[in-house]
Amino acid sequence: MEIKVMANILDKNDQLAAEVNAHLSRRGIFTLNLLGSPGSGKTALLERTIAALKDELKLAVIEGDLFTDKDAARIARQGVPVVQINTGGGCHLDANMVKGVLASLDLDGLDLLIIENVGNLVCPAEFNIGEDAKATVLSVTEGEDKPLKYPLVFKQAGAVVVNKIDLLPYTSFDLAAATEDIASINPQVAIFPASCRTGEGLEGWYGWLRARVAAKKAAAAKGE
Ligand code: MG
Ligand code: ZN
Repeated sequence: MEIKVMANILDKNDQLAAEVNAHLSRRGIFTLNLLGSPGSGKTALLERTIAALKDELKLAVIEGDLFTDKDAARIARQGVPVVQINTGGGCHLDANMVKGVLASLDLDGLDLLIIENVGNLVCPAEFNIGEDAKATVLSVTEGEDKPLKYPLVFKQAGAVVVNKIDLLPYTSFDLAAATEDIASINPQVAIFPASCRTGEGLEGWYGWLRARVAAKKAAAAKGE
C-alpha cells in the first residue's frame, strides 16, 4: 500500500525533526526553514539578511541543493558558517539530512540557523526538518496565481517575502490580489513585499526574525 508507506515515512521524519528541534532548542537557537521556487530569491534574501543581522546575531546557514555548492559559496563569502547538503537530485530536504550535518556546525552561542531548502513549491513543505518556523519566498515574476496553486507552502509559512517588487512595473503581477490570496490561505502570516536587489521592504522581515530569535532565547532561558 503506497499510501501507508508514505504515512510511515512522514511519521519517521517527524520523529527525527522533533529530535533535531530539541537539540537546537536546548541551545536557544531559532531555526528557520526557507522555502520557495528556484530563482525566487532565497539565497539573495539570505545574503541581505546576513548583511543586516550578522553584527547583532550569531548566524549559521545550511544550504540544500540538488547538485552544486554555488549557493553555499555565496553564503561563505558573507563570512558566516555554512554547511552544504547535496540531495543528489532529491527534490526536498528531510530531517535525517539535517541531523546528519548538525555535528559539522559549531552551535555554541548560535542565535539563528537558517536552512535554505531545495527550490520547489511542492514537497519541501511536506517535510519538517527540525525548524521552529518556515518562511516562503515568492517573486513577482512567478505570477500571483502561485499561492492558490501551491497552498501548503503558504499555509505553513510564518512569513512570506514577496520578492522583486522593483520589477512590478514590468509584470502583470497583482500584488493586492497575491496578498489577499496568501492571507485567505493563512490569516496569521506576516507578508513582506520587498526587493532583495534594492533592499526595499526588508526592515519588517528583519524585525520579524529578531522578534523570533528573542522569543526563542527567552523560552530557552526559562527552560521551556
Ligand atoms: Mg538558492
Ligand atoms: Zn521532494
